[in-house]
Amino acid sequence: MCKTHNVQPLLFLLLLIFNSWGGNANELVIEDITLISPERQKPLEHASVRIVNGVITEISTSKLVSNTQVKRLDGSGRYLIPGLIDSHVHLAKVPSMTGRHKQLYPELKAAFLKQQPRSYLYFGFTSLIDLNTFSPRTIEEFTQETLHPDVFTCGKHLDIANGHGMMEEDPKTRLQDNPNFLYDHYQQQYLNGDFDLSQHTVDKTVKQIKDNGGICIKTYYENGYGGSEMVDFDIPTPQIIRDVAIEGRKLNIPTVLHANSWGSQRVALLADVDIIGHGMFHWDEYRHEKEVPAPIRETLKEIAERKMGYQPTLHVLDSQRGLFDPNYLENPLLEKVYPKELLAWYKSEEGQWFKKRIRQYFPRHLHSLDDKAMYQHFTKYYQHNVDILKVLADYDANLLFATDTIIGQSYANAPGLSGYIDMKAWHKAGVSLIKILQAATINNAKAFNLADSVGSIEIGKKANLLLLKQNPLKTIEAYNDIEFVIINGQAITRQDLAATD
Ligand SMILES: [Zn+2]
Repeated sequence: MCKTHNVQPLLFLLLLIFNSWGGNANELVIEDITLISPERQKPLEHASVRIVNGVITEISTSKLVSNTQVKRLDGSGRYLIPGLIDSHVHLAKVPSMTGRHKQLYPELKAAFLKQQPRSYLYFGFTSLIDLNTFSPRTIEEFTQETLHPDVFTCGKHLDIANGHGMMEEDPKTRLQDNPNFLYDHYQQQYLNGDFDLSQHTVDKTVKQIKDNGGICIKTYYENGYGGSEMVDFDIPTPQIIRDVAIEGRKLNIPTVLHANSWGSQRVALLADVDIIGHGMFHWDEYRHEKEVPAPIRETLKEIAERKMGYQPTLHVLDSQRGLFDPNYLENPLLEKVYPKELLAWYKSEEGQWFKKRIRQYFPRHLHSLDDKAMYQHFTKYYQHNVDILKVLADYDANLLFATDTIIGQSYANAPGLSGYIDMKAWHKAGVSLIKILQAATINNAKAFNLADSVGSIEIGKKANLLLLKQNPLKTIEAYNDIEFVIINGQAITRQDLAATD
């Protein structure tokens, strides 16, 4: 990131010179607004902000004069915050559509992919981090849309040979198909085929991610969802994960560990990774406890004290239980983020396929449960995760706002809206509004080395901003009361981003 750091002051100076000549600089001035930026002790009242060519060049409490005929936005009675960052997304999927569905209904797939970038913007997400790019082409298409959030990726995930990330691939060919696999030399890994192991070391595989433009490393420690399921893939040793994290830090790219149980999050501590990529859905031997037990609190306290990044991903279980919520598809906000025809398809008999299928993924005793009982089943794990979040917030952990949209095959994966639903859930859990704002802006920016350009409203940073009608430090509803989304200095009326009027 130091490269960007050196370049920015120069760029800033050039912009200033360019502007003082009264050239064709693209300028926007926001006047008389309450500026709320996470690094400030308190809001800056009656602030004016000048944006030139997409960069914040001036912040003042006195009126900003301009030589040129610049665009002005009256901010009186409004609030300006940094654009939101969701640090755990997967952009290459279409909710609830299998390959076959996409072939049958190419127009539904196309309509979704076209709308997706705007749906994230509609709910204020101006930066997204895709933790493993299943399809680089889809991301390319995403960023070719005229209006889209900035997208960063961890490239393809880093997985050990026959690890969790490969489990759905053909055992005969999956190592050939994943040429960047890591060989865990701390254990006797069986490899099906002849491989030059000098090409599958930590330094080679991590370097490849960096060389391909990844800003982070996504790797897995999955041990069967807290021991609730059989494992038919290889589990990495904590030592190899530690080596990955050390190598990543040398190259300035943080390691995000998929870990969703108490046991696996203790491995995250042991391996000293930078970011834990999930909430703690599984409490292992404490699975029947109603409140977070003392030993788990100890783990959370250590995560908080070390300031390890933590992505609670409440949405993961919300997306599953949403299938069994009789009102999920009736939420009028879905019309803002899903194309009309797709929403209609989700409501059809065919569009409900995954709701029937999902039971098969679970133990036999769950197969006969009715919808209400299924909803409650997911809610138990969802609530575990909410309770963990509250404990972490009380310990002042380094919380990173992250949804994990689009996960699984559920239509309860609405881009953008799922983030807003999660933010409301954080608030309901008892996390303060300032902590929610920090988690969705500066904490994410710092954890992923993006703080030079986004995450706060400061001179020299990119003008990815939200103009809100309500105060986000007073009400969580403010995140659904956006007047303008400013992306790269361009102010867009929120309604123009909606899927339907
Ligand atoms: Zn994910």
